[in-house]
Amino acid sequence: MTSNYIFVGPQGSGKGTQAKIIATKYNLCHISTGDLLRNAQGELKEKADEYMLSGKLVPDEIVLSLLKEKLQSSGCENGFILDGFPRNITQAEQLDKITKIDAVFNIVISDDEAIKRLEGRRNCPSCGANYNIVTAPKPNVDNICDICQSKLVKREDDNEQAIKNRLEIYHKETSPILKHYNTIPVNGEQDIDKVTEDILKAIKMLNFFK
Ligand code: AMP
Repeated sequence: MTSNYIFVGPQGSGKGTQAKIIATKYNLCHISTGDLLRNAQGELKEKADEYMLSGKLVPDEIVLSLLKEKLQSSGCENGFILDGFPRNITQAEQLDKITKIDAVFNIVISDDEAIKRLEGRRNCPSCGANYNIVTAPKPNVDNICDICQSKLVKREDDNEQAIKNRLEIYHKETSPILKHYNTIPVNGEQDIDKVTEDILKAIKMLNFFK
């Protein structure tokens, strides 16, 4: 029996962090379309970068082709968690055509909280570890990765203008998808562990009625 979930929420809601935790626990494939785009190569990457750097949505056909490829790859046999997809109604409708979804978790945070978190976000370019100098986890030494001692960097699209664009697009284009599904709301402003606990409780209920 597979479990296919979508995690929706504004940038900075922690949906990526939660998707990683839950995917590891249930051995699901964690699919972040943002990561798929950042790791793309060649012409496709160049085209995607034009949109990503200013915080705009990458054209649907590019994202869909990467997603379809990933869904067919090994590691997704038990199901998947989509993180950052769908981002608009067209993508939701396309997704309906290629797979079934068991539940959609809506991780809710305010815009002020989202901006605060995104401005503090840092990551390690060498080992991929994530930190947040405003919330948590903070690195032990300022700007240095705890794991591999590399200098931490800010994502290029975590600048003030791009953050504002991304939140505006979230409200205009992404939040309408919440009406497309029966969503399970989760308070994303709680501690990470508490958010995980709420999601796990909901998954247990879903599995009980499956
Ligand atoms: P994220 O890592 O989810 O914050 O995504 C980073 C950027 O990748 C976004 O600001 C968009 O430019 C692009 N992106 C990620 N997922 C999608 C998607 N489903 N549709 C269009 N663009 C996307």
